[in-house]
Amino acid sequence: AAGAAGAGIADAAPGRTGRAATRHEHRIKGLLDRMTVEEKLGQLQQLPWSWDTGPGGGATKDVEDAARAGRLGSVLSIHGAKTTNALQRIAVEESRLGIPLLFGLDVIHGFWTTFPIPLAQAASFDPDVAKADAEVSAKEARSNGVHWTFSPMMDVTHEPRWGRIAESNGEDPYLTSAFAAAKVRGYQGEPGGTGSPGYGAKDRVAACAKHFVAYGGAEGGRDYNTVDVSESRLRSLYLPPFKAALDAGAATVMASFNTIGGIPGHGNTHTLTDILKEEWGFDGLVVSDWTGVQELIPHGFAEDGAAAARLSLNAGVDMEMTSTHLLKNGRRLLREGRISEERLDDAIARVLRLKADLGLFDDPYVDEGAAVEGPTPAAHRAARDSAARSMVLLKNEGGTLPLKRSVRSIAVVGPFGDSDDLLGTWSFPAAVKKYPSVKVLDAVRRAAPDAKVTYARGVDPEGEDTGGIPKAVSAARSADVTVVVVGEPPSMSGEAAARSDIGLPGGQEKLVAAVAATGKPFVVVLVNGRPLTVGEWLGSAPAVLEAWHPGLEAGNAIADVLFGEVNPGGKLPVSFPRAVGQIPIHYNHESTGRPYDPDNKYTSKYLDLPPGPQFAFGHGLSYTAFEIGEPSLSRERIPADALREGDTLEVAVSVTNTGDRAGDEVVQLYVHDLAASIAQPVRRLRGFRRVTLEPGRSRTVRFRIGADDLGFWTNARDGEFRVEEGAVDIYVGAGSDAEARRRLTIT
Ligand code: BGC
Repeated sequence: AAGAAGAGIADAAPGRTGRAATRHEHRIKGLLDRMTVEEKLGQLQQLPWSWDTGPGGGATKDVEDAARAGRLGSVLSIHGAKTTNALQRIAVEESRLGIPLLFGLDVIHGFWTTFPIPLAQAASFDPDVAKADAEVSAKEARSNGVHWTFSPMMDVTHEPRWGRIAESNGEDPYLTSAFAAAKVRGYQGEPGGTGSPGYGAKDRVAACAKHFVAYGGAEGGRDYNTVDVSESRLRSLYLPPFKAALDAGAATVMASFNTIGGIPGHGNTHTLTDILKEEWGFDGLVVSDWTGVQELIPHGFAEDGAAAARLSLNAGVDMEMTSTHLLKNGRRLLREGRISEERLDDAIARVLRLKADLGLFDDPYVDEGAAVEGPTPAAHRAARDSAARSMVLLKNEGGTLPLKRSVRSIAVVGPFGDSDDLLGTWSFPAAVKKYPSVKVLDAVRRAAPDAKVTYARGVDPEGEDTGGIPKAVSAARSADVTVVVVGEPPSMSGEAAARSDIGLPGGQEKLVAAVAATGKPFVVVLVNGRPLTVGEWLGSAPAVLEAWHPGLEAGNAIADVLFGEVNPGGKLPVSFPRAVGQIPIHYNHESTGRPYDPDNKYTSKYLDLPPGPQFAFGHGLSYTAFEIGEPSLSRERIPADALREGDTLEVAVSVTNTGDRAGDEVVQLYVHDLAASIAQPVRRLRGFRRVTLEPGRSRTVRFRIGADDLGFWTNARDGEFRVEEGAVDIYVGAGSDAEARRRLTIT
């Protein structure tokens, strides 16, 4: 089936029309006719260059030789205008067919200008934050020779122990979809009128939707672990962000390491071919993850490299990253009829199409004089705005925050108060050195120039030594207010960085408790890459600000929020559990059926904990107050047939700033289908809008909902989306605990 996957070489591929597309398909056909089998296999091979320090060990020469021999299609982890041009020159000028190389890099939340981690970005509930990151990243990376970023990551997850939650947009597929699409648009730009995608432009890069699919379902949150999901959950929880990213034009998709029901992502015909390439008609490139093809062997799915190459190609993987099984075994597999020429040509066409769309056949080089060498002032501003917009005010009693600039003395306490390492996971190593994050301590000093600002580290985030606590306590005692900056170092989240305990590491719990015991005013700023279980000090902490790993402008953005320059408006994109034993705990769970609770709150609970998470999805406070009115529906009954044919209804709700300063509220819409042939989650986010309101002002927010919002996926393998008759509750409010409700009847 894969060979017929709609990538007919002579015709323009499906979904792609216009002069450019037609011209490319002619070029691709011409090249395929001239390529030897070895050259064909070469196009499907991607090899690593090296991180940061440039060519490493003997690898450079191997890569150069492969490029010269036409045995290489792409290189990853490479950057730099000079470095990429030099290697490109070998491919273009010294190989027989002169096919340019494709250069890929993990630009996840910034190249030079590090934006907040993706989880933080999702907390802004403002997809323009992701778009801004992607636009700046694309400019910086492309000018440094990078054509393709392995981003956005869109793995929905209910697992805060999983380190890669930092790279994700949290626990909700609708929010993740919005961010995935925005990020793709930011990287790639909009398609041109000639049928060319936007990433033909010299300030754009091709995006990669990853990891396909259900990687966030890793059991126990241990990275790469087993996943076993029903078809309905696959289609309602894990697949939607990918569909949204592809609808936004994502050029490529990366397969995922995990198994799904025993079938590894890299050998999964159902997901890669049946769904992605056939049902969705994806005509772009599927790249393996790092040695993902090779790993079919230890997964127990392939007996050797030849089998791994055959199974992955036939399942739908087009390009092999790092391992070289197809390159080595392809000729024999072809001769033995274990892979088909059609499937091989289809995979190669996908690679060549990407190169053509990037404009590499017309101009394979970058302008060495035009490489962006660091963050511009505008990029600094965008990173600072994004970080401040991403922060979530978890708690604020008695108006502790914002701090007054007139305060006489401030103690900054905690290991992250004086840290320039708040960029987060997957920051670009050269940027870590050259453009580390702004320290909180420095920013607080600048924000309150007349105050006496002292600093005490207190404890280490990774050791148990609490010897520094007394000094921190005396600093807190002699200050008007203390800012405690605690959290996780970036190395504690990200790939292969799962934690079994997601509390504050090291002696930090003790540090906060000791500051709390002074009885003096203090605020806690959390810097972390995942939800944390916060300790007993939470009860005595008047104010807690979740700042995540905020990136380049960390300290400045934190100070902006602490001193009220920016009124926080972020909301949690993921639930914060009370204890690790509650995991998974997420807002979009199903009802247990007992004990019966008409509001479907968390009825399944533990003897030793109150029900529900510590902080729920969608929660976040402001320095002002908002009132969200009762929602109204433009119609209370709608025929199922009309919905299926595209009819919609409007939900309107007023939001008023009832406080005394300007601020942002995120109005959120959730649905719950009361009785369906597949029981539905108690709440599903289907709309959100972040609005800015001056004090005393109101606005009506309108959401349009239709079949996409009111229907659901069944367990049919070939994909059945159903809109059924019956009652649906629509909730609108400022969090997933919204209580204002209207009932809609689908007739
Ligand atoms: C990660 C991918 C990444 C790739 C290349 C893998 O280990 O899972 O997300 O794009 O490495 O660096």
